[in-house]
Amino acid sequence: MTIRRITAARPAWMLEAPCRALPTEVFFPSNRDHHGYAMAKAVCSTCPFKSRCLRYAIDNREEGVWGATTEYERKLMQGKGKKSRLQGRVA
Ligand code: SF4
Repeated sequence: MTIRRITAARPAWMLEAPCRALPTEVFFPSNRDHHGYAMAKAVCSTCPFKSRCLRYAIDNREEGVWGATTEYERKLMQGKGKKSRLQGRVA
């Protein structure tokens, strides 16, 4: 099993997050474990810290499911954001 690392100091809201009561592995499913991703996202879907969690994951380039998104989905979101900003400069 790969040891996942948290790349930044943990913010206070993490101490109250519902995922805290679950094994860390739940949020780091293997690449093709679609059921695992769905389970993690289901937990995130009702989390009151979802937006902050997503921001944290983007800012710290985290792996796994954070803020109901996968690492791949966050990369797509960032790509769209860059494209929007570039279009804003041209317009
Ligand atoms: S959004 Fe998901 S990963 Fe983030 S704090 Fe909430 S339950 Fe945990």
